[in-house]
Amino acid sequence: MKYDLVCRNCGLRFRDHGFTFSCPAGCSSIVSTDYASPLRLKNREMGEGIWKYAEWLPVEGKNDYSGKPVLFKSPELSSEVGTNVYVAFHGYSPEIGAEMITCTFKEIEVIVSLRYAAERGADIALASVGNTANAFLAFSHYEDINVYLFVPKRVFDCLFCHEKSENTTLVMVDGSYDDALTLAQRFAELRGIKYEGGGRNVARRDVLATLAYTFLETYGFLPDVYFQAVGSGTGAIAFYEGSKRLVEMGLAEKLPRIAVAQNKPFTPIVNAWRRKRREIEVYDYDPLDVVYAQVLTNRSPLYSMRGGLYDIMEETRGFAVSASEKEAKEAGKLFMEIYGIDLYPAAEVALAALLKSDVKGSVLLNITGAGFSRLKKDYRVRRPRADFVVECEADLEVIL
Ligand SMILES: [Zn+2]
Repeated sequence: MKYDLVCRNCGLRFRDHGFTFSCPAGCSSIVSTDYASPLRLKNREMGEGIWKYAEWLPVEGKNDYSGKPVLFKSPELSSEVGTNVYVAFHGYSPEIGAEMITCTFKEIEVIVSLRYAAERGADIALASVGNTANAFLAFSHYEDINVYLFVPKRVFDCLFCHEKSENTTLVMVDGSYDDALTLAQRFAELRGIKYEGGGRNVARRDVLATLAYTFLETYGFLPDVYFQAVGSGTGAIAFYEGSKRLVEMGLAEKLPRIAVAQNKPFTPIVNAWRRKRREIEVYDYDPLDVVYAQVLTNRSPLYSMRGGLYDIMEETRGFAVSASEKEAKEAGKLFMEIYGIDLYPAAEVALAALLKSDVKGSVLLNITGAGFSRLKKDYRVRRPRADFVVECEADLEVIL
């Protein structure tokens, strides 16, 4: 196998027997890949987009996906922020070469997650608050496996697709995201299939890490600061992991500071970080009820455990910023004025947080979702119907 898995807590190295995303010694830490061969940058033989970096993806083959983020330097945002701002644009805007038909970076994660599962012959179940489910609905037919998506009822109107992949089963959960998560895990156990693993899935993180390689290839250096709005924190951890590999190979000098943004009033990571605490507070309400950027509502982010955001932000002298709905919408308006492209709420939050931060050096802003209005001009967008509606474990019977 071209990689080992390594526990970020005890350092144990072990083989990936398929969906082995926790340490065999019982640590709760993040488990990362360690690839045997070095990455060859500028290696055009491997194809374009994410597949160009297939040497550092935990899969053997590839599928037909060809989308990729679009990188550019923004003079306008640079003058607003007062330092050099680069944008990693994930979304739909063919005019700038961005053709993600589900409009968010989740699509990239899903492509490699699907490939990873297919190579291991595994059907998968997972929970999503919208964007990930949209990507699975759109792309699952690229691979010959079955995918079970558990989505909370109150975000169901965020779902869309052009053609729903026939190998997906869409389950509406009458409950919170945590309920959807619990039911997806339980369903996977009962059905004898794999729980996809979310941000703990190395396929998902390693493909998001390719953004660091693309940036280095394009500009010849890594940014001083990486800025992203986070729910679970997967994207930020991935960018750190990618940067770390490049630094360890001697291809880049230093790690970017990892800066994360969340949407007021639900800002568990910002709150914990500001108090220099490793523990996340317990929230007894459903953040989907109160937050504008609904994808930023993870109550159990990848923060406390070894190798999680707390460690990464500490190592890189990172920071955490919150932005209100009003600030987010103003930031979205600014982006619209400059580029004529609508941002998803989470991307608005990231930009708003950047605009109120005092940062020095080069900054990479991850626009994690954008261009839905533009997409609707080119595609007939449909609201998918739930195949099943469930509320509790007993209801899973109907799907089994
Ligand atoms: Zn361990």
